[in-house]
Amino acid sequence: MQWLKAKLVERKFWTETLFSIKVEAQLEPYKAGQYAQLGMMIDGELVKRAYSFVNPPSTTLHEFYLVDVAGGKLSPQLATVPLGSELEIAEHATGFFTLDEVPDAHHLLMLSTGTAVGPFLAMLQSEQCWQKFERITLVQGVRYNQDINYQPLIKSIAKEHEHFQFIALVSREAPEDGLSGRITDAIATEQLSEYGHFTLSPELCQVMICGNPAMVKQTRDMLKDRNFTRNLRRKPGQLTVENYW
Ligand SMILES: Cc1cc2nc3c(=O)[nH]c(=O)nc-3n(C[C@H](O)[C@H](O)[C@H](O)COP(=O)(O)OP(=O)(O)OC[C@H]3O[C@@H](n4cnc5c(N)ncnc54)[C@H](O)[C@@H]3O)c2cc1C
Repeated sequence: MQWLKAKLVERKFWTETLFSIKVEAQLEPYKAGQYAQLGMMIDGELVKRAYSFVNPPSTTLHEFYLVDVAGGKLSPQLATVPLGSELEIAEHATGFFTLDEVPDAHHLLMLSTGTAVGPFLAMLQSEQCWQKFERITLVQGVRYNQDINYQPLIKSIAKEHEHFQFIALVSREAPEDGLSGRITDAIATEQLSEYGHFTLSPELCQVMICGNPAMVKQTRDMLKDRNFTRNLRRKPGQLTVENYW
């Protein structure tokens, strides 16, 4: 893997633990939905982790949305190193969680937990998204209302595309907007499809799922029971997934 220097040029804290960073680096072209390997030398060792791009690939600065994981090795460093610091970044982005891998459909359902909304924001800012699907629903599961960020961007996407909607699911307090509880429960009870006014069927929907591996697995299993199948290059289906850990 070829490593380059990336300069940390911006950092914005949304809450005490959720933050976004922007870095400057000459990367090879990448696709919306892919991720970078970011690294830092810590105690003489290069500690590297995967982070999904939030920005569309056409942007000059590379943006990532992170959570400062308590006791984590790299994320607390990324939350605190001074602006201007040099990080390491892999020259080539990686990953198949991209729209190229997803067949065209009437409705694209994007299911995310926490910071895993990031790759979907990159996709939603790319033209390809609006050519492949007639309707798009972005769902984000969070614990608290304050964990719903990037609202100005999401609202501007909704304003530009009338067949786009954002639905938040808040699990640990009453939602200010959206639904209460977890994505998995909202699918099981049909609350999600009723609230979003859509039919969750493999004939109509492609589903992309990203984030917490427990949510990814449960949702995938639940949808498999409804005749959704994993999307493979040799055998297209309707489920495309990415686990964050
Ligand atoms: C393909 C891919 C893309 C990723 N993109 C992002 C991203 O855009 N933003 C991001 O914050 N993380 C992302 N991650 C997770 C990231 O790579 C690190 O695992 C995370 O930053 C923790 O690293 P750490 O060294 O601080 O903690 P570690 O010491 O490595 O601890 C790992 C533990 O942290 C927890 N954890 C990891 N990631 C998250 C998360 N996102 N939310 C809640 N808990 C978490 C889990 O319990 C995990 O077991 C991605 C992972 C993968 C595989």
